[in-house]
Amino acid sequence: MKITSKVSPMMQQYLLTKESYPDCVLFYRLGDFYEMFFEDAILCSRLLELTLTGKDCGLEERAPMCGIPHHASKQYIAKLVDNGYKVAICEQLSNPGDQKGPVARDVVQVVTPGTMLESDALEATTNNFLMYIHTDADNVGVCYSDISTGLMEMTEFSGPDYIKLLDDIIIRVRPKEVLCNESTLNICGKLTTVNTSYVAPFAVYAGTHNTFNASKEFLLKHFQVQSLSVFDASDKKHGILATAKLLDYVYDTQKRNIYNLKKLVTIKDENFVHLDISARRNLELVENMSLRKKHGSLLWLLDKTKTCMGARKMRSFIDKPLTNAKQINERLNAVEELLSNYILRDELQAELQMIIDIERRCGKISANTIMPKELLSLASSLQLMYNVKTKLVNCKSKLLVDIYNQIADLTKVAEFLFVAINKDAPAVLKDGGYIANGYNQELDNLRNAKEIGKEWLVALEQSEKEKTGIKNLKTGYNKIFGYYIEVTNGSLVQVPDYYIRKQTTTTAERFIIPELKEMEYKILNSTEEALKLENKLYTEIKEALKAYISDMLQSSEALSLLDCLLSLATVATKNNYCKPVINSKVNGIKIVNGRHPVVEAMMNTSEFVPNDCTFDQSTSTMLITGPNMAGKSTYMRQVAIITLMAHIGSFVPATSAEISIVDRIFTRVGATDELAFGQSTFMVEMNEVANILSNATSKSLIVLDEVGRGTSTYDGMSIAWAILEYIANNIKAKTMFSTHYHELTSLEGTIEGVKNYKVMVKEYNGGIMFLHKIGRGSANRSFGIEVAKLAGLPQELLNRANQILAHQESSASKTSVDTSGKITSNLRPEEQEVLNIIKELNINTIPPIMAFTTLNDLIEKLKK
Ligand code: ADP
Repeated sequence: MKITSKVSPMMQQYLLTKESYPDCVLFYRLGDFYEMFFEDAILCSRLLELTLTGKDCGLEERAPMCGIPHHASKQYIAKLVDNGYKVAICEQLSNPGDQKGPVARDVVQVVTPGTMLESDALEATTNNFLMYIHTDADNVGVCYSDISTGLMEMTEFSGPDYIKLLDDIIIRVRPKEVLCNESTLNICGKLTTVNTSYVAPFAVYAGTHNTFNASKEFLLKHFQVQSLSVFDASDKKHGILATAKLLDYVYDTQKRNIYNLKKLVTIKDENFVHLDISARRNLELVENMSLRKKHGSLLWLLDKTKTCMGARKMRSFIDKPLTNAKQINERLNAVEELLSNYILRDELQAELQMIIDIERRCGKISANTIMPKELLSLASSLQLMYNVKTKLVNCKSKLLVDIYNQIADLTKVAEFLFVAINKDAPAVLKDGGYIANGYNQELDNLRNAKEIGKEWLVALEQSEKEKTGIKNLKTGYNKIFGYYIEVTNGSLVQVPDYYIRKQTTTTAERFIIPELKEMEYKILNSTEEALKLENKLYTEIKEALKAYISDMLQSSEALSLLDCLLSLATVATKNNYCKPVINSKVNGIKIVNGRHPVVEAMMNTSEFVPNDCTFDQSTSTMLITGPNMAGKSTYMRQVAIITLMAHIGSFVPATSAEISIVDRIFTRVGATDELAFGQSTFMVEMNEVANILSNATSKSLIVLDEVGRGTSTYDGMSIAWAILEYIANNIKAKTMFSTHYHELTSLEGTIEGVKNYKVMVKEYNGGIMFLHKIGRGSANRSFGIEVAKLAGLPQELLNRANQILAHQESSASKTSVDTSGKITSNLRPEEQEVLNIIKELNINTIPPIMAFTTLNDLIEKLKK
């Protein structure tokens, strides 16, 4: 649509505004409605199920239009944003008639998936992250922030693996909206997370601060700090660029001051156990693999937090397990103290249960969108928070003492709010009544203006009588002339000069005086004046609260940490976990009677069979054989999860556990691939193994579950063999390797650190029973047909499978792989002789008849 003089003035204004927000749906305020026009109207009518109408706009054709009442806009905006659209909200900035031409309007906020603030539209227990990625060759800066809670983190990395690392961070953060610079757009196609629609396509956003210096200055100003070293960020050039761009975008969309993003956390990779996409998925850390839901994940098991803030924190605990033994021990000690004090734990959880999402309330205070009722629940929570603090006063462990110190005493703020806000405040602001009586004398006067007016009039009548000496002087009111002083005709000579005549009746004259005029104005406009004053007072209250945002956020951080520690203590007692010993000096793992925490919790019976695990100087690689369904995967994942839980600072499902710090956990599960995350191809598997081989160190934990299955038997076996050799010889990482290639078990004794383990089964009457017990040694076969029998395959088919197996085994027995990997022959001597003769034979130098008799001899030899 072109802006021409034919177009009506209002539509010209609309089109000009739309020009500045071409990528947004424009919500254009007209009176009590937001109207959408043209393609926005068509989109909204379809998506929001609104009736499509039209508006005369000066052109021949009416402009397509649809609208929504402004008070119901939240849910419509949320739906559009949920569908990936951005909404620009254009408000009226002047009153109709205040000026010539159309009412002044401008966009006051742009709502996007990553900048949502409305708590109804946000998931309570997960962060809503906006991410900015800045790449320059293989240097990457990433900043992500949840502007509804005030969390902001930044990191940077570089090198040949940068695409992989970018995928890893995206899968960890799960951003709702990703922005980037031009050059990042070029590498988008290489990201698995983008290709599999795990994140929405990236949008290029240039921002205003483009050089390093400009970005740095901008950040110093925004965070109000002298140096970015307070955030450990001063040398993070690419991270700083990303952070500045992210903040540019926040200012651009919010169009206001941002009070709740005042802390930047620099994430250093080495401080956290690195988990790539496969490990996060295979270990089912925050969602299960099949349905991608929380149920059945480690988060589901460990999250018994009572506040939304705690739930979000627990997620970040699991997303970022620690590598610093001191910090882990601090968490473990705090969990232990809470675990041993049942009464304290119970009392603290009862208080936390009633605490609202203070972080998101701070987001709303910062955005000026907080409602009076929300301030009341905030006030209650600030008081509860103080109760929590006082209950911690005798705690001994460092983390609990820190939490005690970090929770601010904001009871004064709470008291202030209780005095200021009416406890029966209505849900909407437009009718007033949300400021409490007694908070402001002037407001009280306005509210009581009519009553006060009556008394005042009586007093005025009395004083005027005395001043003028007119005994029958009266005050009164009528609808047309308002308030007056009436003097009967007989006393008119006594009327003083300052009386202004207003009305004449048959028996008297009515007058007005300045004080009475003023009072009349007050009484008649008291409702409107009270509304204006309430609004002014409320704005002042909101402004005053901004000064407490950082204290509230710091206290919330402490509360959420406490909530997580309490949750870990609760889960530990309920499930009978033990405190792991974190050993940062040696490289080993020793678990006695370990269990898989999630499988155990999901089983109805208490029949989970515990198993031990030992990685020490003499064991770096566990080669695990056993039939399908015996429990190999469960066992390997259980060791990885126990190790991970220990790094989170959680107690673990075992009788005892000694865990050394790991830098990375890798998992590659050959058998189960999800199509949503890329095809289940041998190539994908090999890519992942290549990644493991190039990134694992002796401090890593590797789980390889039946690697090498997607190709022919000998190919697969050879690759599995070579991978195992490579890891055991060159990387010496703690490795669990399950396989059906029993040939690999010959590596024990030839490669240092490799030990054979098997999952035991009991054979009976041609069938098997799973014992789920891991022991030393190797399984002599895979019992595939027995497992198939258990699954209920027809007997006829099983008989045939047994026949084929017997045949295959007899031919396969003719070759074998020796311990050095050489393939040797197991042929009968006469077969070997035939082979030797054929090798020596030159068919071109003998007559045909001789060739024929030689062939006959060979056949006879074989027949023997
Ligand atoms: P595999 O990897 O050997 O095919 P899984 O680890 O998938 O076997 O285990 C198969 C099933 O056996 C699991 O779903 C679980 O129900 C059960 N299971 C595994 N380990 C145990 C155990 N230690 N105690 C009890 N049940 C177990």
